Amino acid sequence: MARASGARPVVGVLALQGAVREHVAMLERAGARAVPVRRAAELSEVDGLVLPGGESTTMSRLLESFALLEPLRARIGDGLPVFGSCAGMILLARQVLDGRPDQQQLGGLDVVVRRNAFGRQVDSFEVDLDFAGVAGGPVHAVFIRAPWVEKAGAGVEVLATVASPGPQDGDPGPGDAGTRIVAVRQGSVLATAFHPEITGDERVHRLFVELVREA
Ligand code: GLN
Repeated sequence: MARASGARPVVGVLALQGAVREHVAMLERAGARAVPVRRAAELSEVDGLVLPGGESTTMSRLLESFALLEPLRARIGDGLPVFGSCAGMILLARQVLDGRPDQQQLGGLDVVVRRNAFGRQVDSFEVDLDFAGVAGGPVHAVFIRAPWVEKAGAGVEVLATVASPGPQDGDPGPGDAGTRIVAVRQGSVLATAFHPEITGDERVHRLFVELVREA
């Protein structure tokens, strides 16, 4: 297993599909050395990994064809720090609602997510969020066909919520309080339903790089 090289840990970005370049740029600004990961050998070299946004069903299929599914599950099970944004959050979830039946999960996060959850009301929206653990004011969050966390296990810390866009169709849970969970942390696994890589604000990536250093 790789070791954090001093203060500048090596953080991989899963580079099968999605917003890879944006995460690489933000990780570099946040104090990491960022490398794309496409093969199991590359995965074994990193101290932490970002799973970017994109399309979780496509990424699940590509993980299988690139023979990364099992190696990735194993490293996450071993405690590899991982940050999933949007589709990445979906991949990390224990269970997905409104997914495809053949969609594979990496695990690591004891949450149930609903895929394309906001899509019934709005496809994309932007909002300023209070984000626990991120100092310096609200984080501007861009949601693109985003999931939300419908249920979070006892070991999961809720870092950010967003006002529910309207009455939901009968599903009880966090939405009853008029809010939806959109950022969580469980140990060194971090996930956001939104895309902090595209706003020019690297504070969420800094938080993740800090988790990688601590691991
Ligand atoms: N809706 C996509 C999915 O199901 C996620 C969208 C995104 O990553 N921006 O994977």
